[in-house]
Amino acid sequence: MVNEYLDEANPTSWSSPGQPEDVEPGVTAALSPSAAVVVRELIEPGAMRVTAEPIWRLVDRALLGYQLRWRPPRLDAVPSPGDFWRAAASSDLLEPLDDALMHAQFEAAKQIRPSAVFIDLVGYRRQRRGVAGILARAARQADIPATRIIWQLNESEDVTDVVPTADLVFDLRLHGFKVAFLDLGESRTPIASIARVLPDILHLDASLVHGLARGEAYAAVIRGLTGFAAAIGSRLVAGDISSEPELAALMDLGIRYGSGSLLGRPVEVEGPRAVEPVRPRVLLDIDSLDPAGEPSTCPTLAPAEGTGGPLVHLASHVDVTEELGQAARSLQAEYQPDVILELAADHLARLVPYDGLAIYRADWDALRFRPLLARSSSEPTYVVGVMGHTFPIGTGITGWALDLGTPQLVNDADAHPAAGHLPGTAADDESMLLVPLVAADRRLGILTLVRFRTGAFSPAELTTASLVGHMLAAAWHNAQLYSELAENAITDSLTGLRNSRWLRDSGRRELALAEREQHGLALVMLDLDKFKLVNDSVGHGTGDSVLRAVGRAIHESIRADDVAVRYGGEEFVLLLHQAGLEGPRRVWRDLRRRLGRIALPEACALQRVTASAGLARYPDHGRTLTQLLSAADAAMYAMKRRGGNRLATARPGLLTRPDPDS
Ligand code: GH3
Ligand code: MG
Ligand code: MG
Repeated sequence: MVNEYLDEANPTSWSSPGQPEDVEPGVTAALSPSAAVVVRELIEPGAMRVTAEPIWRLVDRALLGYQLRWRPPRLDAVPSPGDFWRAAASSDLLEPLDDALMHAQFEAAKQIRPSAVFIDLVGYRRQRRGVAGILARAARQADIPATRIIWQLNESEDVTDVVPTADLVFDLRLHGFKVAFLDLGESRTPIASIARVLPDILHLDASLVHGLARGEAYAAVIRGLTGFAAAIGSRLVAGDISSEPELAALMDLGIRYGSGSLLGRPVEVEGPRAVEPVRPRVLLDIDSLDPAGEPSTCPTLAPAEGTGGPLVHLASHVDVTEELGQAARSLQAEYQPDVILELAADHLARLVPYDGLAIYRADWDALRFRPLLARSSSEPTYVVGVMGHTFPIGTGITGWALDLGTPQLVNDADAHPAAGHLPGTAADDESMLLVPLVAADRRLGILTLVRFRTGAFSPAELTTASLVGHMLAAAWHNAQLYSELAENAITDSLTGLRNSRWLRDSGRRELALAEREQHGLALVMLDLDKFKLVNDSVGHGTGDSVLRAVGRAIHESIRADDVAVRYGGEEFVLLLHQAGLEGPRRVWRDLRRRLGRIALPEACALQRVTASAGLARYPDHGRTLTQLLSAADAAMYAMKRRGGNRLATARPGLLTRPDPDS
């Protein structure tokens, strides 16, 4: 992707005239005479050669723009790229050379107008004082709108130092340019550093594209980077695509833009002579693309004139960086979903001040949006309106944005074709940011920010909100996984009842609570009678179904604050918060009826599901879980010996008899 000449040859100290610091004097002296001649030839008007390689939207081969490259001539005279630049530096020709190159690049840009052009902004040029102004002047002279120029910075060398890079990016945007980062995934720079400068375009490192053939790991990395790019509102471009399988794999991974020999060869753009660039079927306007690169279905996305643009946001970029860092830390540390939502709303209030905020959960079972959080300091009816209504997924602007799956800016909500009206909220002018909350391919919900006027949000605010939305979705997803894991650990997978691990860990807590609150607690132990007959006659699978039905029967027999545990294979323990004997006996009678109604196959050797049960009460029959379990167990086995289908209450020291009415 990168012009290797510009890339490798980047002298580290352009600021010191003469010899760059990293050059060994002897070597330079030996090489500079012939190289300097080449440099002098090159800065003659019209001598610089530039090529332009088309970048396409992969799905329909619409043209996104051209990648400009150049290569010094007469490589025979200049053994390595580094030598070429060193020669220029040592003969004080670095700046004239850059001017000549810049002239050629803008000339090329002019010829392939109105396409966007991607131009490397390598280190030596970056270090020219006031470079953004120099570039803006050159663009003006060439009559190229700055918005069509994307300056490409190299991830490894340019982003590491976040603040200077952010300052440069700020200056470039101030002049209306766009910014791209090269070699994404090359891994020399923490990805968070890139997120902080919010590039418009990200170029996937070519090694990842080439690595695709070599294994799933590359695909996984690319998939991650695709999500990252979408989250920060950047468009991801893959270069060097050279085969159909490569192209198909990249598209599968969500890559929407690319270049390479398979798609179209570079065109020569020579001096001032006009060239015939590629004729695309569709020329994309880079401003109108949504980050995932799907053709936008809605014409009203562009921000209104004079509504700030990126600069409003970037002017305070250090605060934003700090605030985003804090948001990331606090969200990652939290495992309770409701707290996570509140935290995100707090951070957003500082980052993208809103008149109204709403977070909806996407309920995919009922296909409805369900409000989880609403905030408005100025409009109480907004909160009431949001929290009071669920609505079908796929409807309204919210549904439209969730369908697209990428963050959207709608600066005149009423004029939007998908607009619906939320009952109870005012029908005034509204601007909206809509950020689908997507984590690990799951669309969890959507975050919406509202300002009660049109044209109120800037694209950079959308990017910032997207970033927070990304963190929120990740934290929310983790919280869900965490609670699922915690739930699984104490749940019996066959019946859905609690498992013996829960009894071990939480049963003690129940006892301690009974002790402290001085309320009674009853423990019932159940063992199904002759259950082996089921397995032996109709098989283990049917046995499992019967056990599931037993679980349901137990669940239906107890009250909401009672707990049922599958203690072993076909043994169950009930913890009942009822003092006295009558409550547990009532539960037992109800359960016995329900067990008797469980349908068994005709071939089943067991006629009817019954159980033997023993009841032990706290504190009468024991003060510890172990004591209660063994008291109930003894009572239960006494009933088993009498033929089953009975409940007995433990009687310390006495022979156990069946309970009356049992
Ligand atoms: P009784 O309790 O009346 O003495 O006779 P029983 O046949 O129920 O004997 P016991 O309680 O000793 O044996 C339990 C049987 O339950 C043994 C095993 O085949 C069956 N069982 C235990 N766990 C499962 C399970 O998860 N699925 C199925 N299908 N059967 C199970
Ligand atoms: Mg048993
Ligand atoms: Mg049994």
